[in-house]
Amino acid sequence: MLERIKTILGDITKQKCDAVVNAANNSLLGGGGVDGAIHRAAGSKLLDECKKLKGCETGEAITTKGYDLPAKYVIHTVGPIWHGGAQNEKDSLRKCYISVFREAKKRNIKTIAFPSISTGAYRFPVEQAVPIAVKAVKDELKQNKEITNVFFVCYDNITYNAYQTEIKNRGTQ
Ligand code: ADP
Repeated sequence: MLERIKTILGDITKQKCDAVVNAANNSLLGGGGVDGAIHRAAGSKLLDECKKLKGCETGEAITTKGYDLPAKYVIHTVGPIWHGGAQNEKDSLRKCYISVFREAKKRNIKTIAFPSISTGAYRFPVEQAVPIAVKAVKDELKQNKEITNVFFVCYDNITYNAYQTEIKNRGTQ
């Protein structure tokens, strides 16, 4: 199933896949980082749709249309803010990935692009987030044969290398 997982160094807003994942905040009303980039690229109709929703709990996910993005859908999920690791941050992060796949199944989504959830403004250490992300995606792909490709879209080399290394090291498992 590792052949269905790919790492890309680039901008998630440019990805032509069924769904891109937004590392949103609880309000779903936009923010910085990948959230700001997705809203800018999707256009104001995305915010209009998000305003009709009642926010999103940490670890949960909600789907909207992609509007002006090349992707058909945006699956918004809210990662945990890192507070040192003793506040269930790891479980919450794992839950984000599980929730995104649950949303994907509802809509016949076959290709999904993830950003590195929580490792930006939310300060989750990359070296701890990456194994959680890769393991969660691997586990979900085992159960979801209809998902053909998952892309980890990384914005910087450190994050990209962390995903590459993790995926390579898991090659024999
Ligand atoms: P969070 O608040 O969940 O930490 P951020 O958006 O601050 O989310 O950061 C998550 C990751 O997304 C970081 O690695 C950041 O560099 C990256 N990122 C920012 N903009 C983009 C983009 N346009 N495409 C892909 N990744 C991005």
